[in-house]
Amino acid sequence: MEKRFKSLTLIVYIIAFMFVAAASVTVTLLNVPQPWIFVIIGAVILAATVLLYLFISAIMKAEKEYHSADYAAMIDSITGGILVFDGNSRVYTVSEDAAGYLDLPDYATGMYKTDAIHDPELLRCIELAEKGESSLTEYTAHGVTLRVLVDPVIFDHKIVGTMLLLLDMGEQLTLQKLKREFTANVSHELKTPLTSISGYAEMIAAGIAAPKDVPEFALRIQKESKRLLALISDIIRLSSLDEGGAEDEKEAVDIFEIADESRDVLLKSAEDHGVSLEVTGEELTVEGSRSLLSELVYNLMDNAIRYNKEGGSVRVETKGRTLTVEDTGIGIPEEHIPHIFERFYRVDKSRSKQTGGTGLGLAIVKHIAEKYGAETRLQSREGEGTRITVKFP
Ligand code: ADP
Repeated sequence: MEKRFKSLTLIVYIIAFMFVAAASVTVTLLNVPQPWIFVIIGAVILAATVLLYLFISAIMKAEKEYHSADYAAMIDSITGGILVFDGNSRVYTVSEDAAGYLDLPDYATGMYKTDAIHDPELLRCIELAEKGESSLTEYTAHGVTLRVLVDPVIFDHKIVGTMLLLLDMGEQLTLQKLKREFTANVSHELKTPLTSISGYAEMIAAGIAAPKDVPEFALRIQKESKRLLALISDIIRLSSLDEGGAEDEKEAVDIFEIADESRDVLLKSAEDHGVSLEVTGEELTVEGSRSLLSELVYNLMDNAIRYNKEGGSVRVETKGRTLTVEDTGIGIPEEHIPHIFERFYRVDKSRSKQTGGTGLGLAIVKHIAEKYGAETRLQSREGEGTRITVKFP
C-alpha cells in the first residue's frame, strides 16, 4: 500500500512538472496572451500533490501506530502470556502476564535469558528451542500452574529466536496437581496402618507372638483399624466436599447447641487428657447441613483437647456471628501456621497419630467454613495455646 502510494505520488509530481514545462514552452512559442494562468494551474497541481502526500502520510503513520498498539494489546490479552527472545537470547518482547508470572521488571526488554529466567527447567527448554526443538513443560508461579510451550521462531529456514507461550490452564492444572498429591498422600497414609495391622496379624497367625503378647497385639490392631476407619471416612468426606456433592440440605442449625452437644461427646476425652472443657455463649444460627457444621465444631474442639497439656483448658464461645475455640495447649510454631489447613499437614506426626489424628481435620474445617462463606482465622503461640475463630456471614 505504502509503495503503491509513493509511486502514485511520484507520477502525479512528474505530470505536474511536465504540465508546467509544457505550459512554459507553449506560452513562449505561441505567445499566449495570459501565460500566468498556466503557471497558476501548475502551481495548484503541485501544491495539491504535496498536501495530498502529507495527508496520506499522516493517515498511514496513525494506522501504523494503531496496529502496533493493537499488536501489544493482542499479546497482553493472551490468557497466560508470551515471551519472545531474539537470536542473541535477549528478551525481544514480553506480555504483561508473562512478566508477572516470571517476575520480570519493567525494563525486561533486552535482558539476557539467564538474567530473565531463573527456573532451570524453563532454561533447558529455551536451549532446546534454540537448537530447533519444541517442548512442553509446567511452571508454577504465584500458586498458578502454567503449561509452557517453548518453540523456536523460524524465519527464512533459520532460527531467529525462541518463543515461550505460558498458558494459564486456570484451576484445572492446579486442581490436577492437588489431586495427584492428595492421592499420593492417601496411599501412603493408608499403607502405614495396614502394614502394621498385617504385621501383628501375621505374627499371631504364625504363632511367633508369645501368648502373653497376643492381647497387646490385638489392641494395636484394633487401634490401627480405628485410625484407618477414621482416615477413610475423612477422605470420603473431603472428596464429597471437593465434588461439591456434600450434604446440601439446608436447615437452621444453632452452632451453640452443636458445641454443647460436642462437649458431651468429648467430655471423656477431655478428662483423659486432664483438660477442662467449657462452652459458653449465645444462639448462632446458620442455614446449612447439621452434620457438616457438627463436624466443623467437633474437629476444632477435638484438636483443642488433643493438642493440650495436662491441667490445660478449652474454651468454646459463640458470640454474634463468631465461633471461637481457644485452648491453653502446646500451640503451633510460627513457621507451621501458614500450612496448618493443608491436607495431611501435621506439626508433630507422631503426636497426631498417637491421639488418633488423620491430618485432615483442619482441611475439612476450612472446606466446610468456605462452603458456608465463613472466614476462618488462626492465632497461635508455641507453648501457650491456640485460638481459632470461624466468622459466619
Ligand atoms: P490431625 O488429625 O493431625 O489433628 P488436623 O488437620 O486436625 O490433623 O490438624 C493439623 C495439625 O495442626 C495437627 O497435626 C497439629 O499439629 C496442629 N494443630 C491442630 N489444632 C491444634 C491446636 N488446637 N493446638 C496445637 N496444634 C494444633
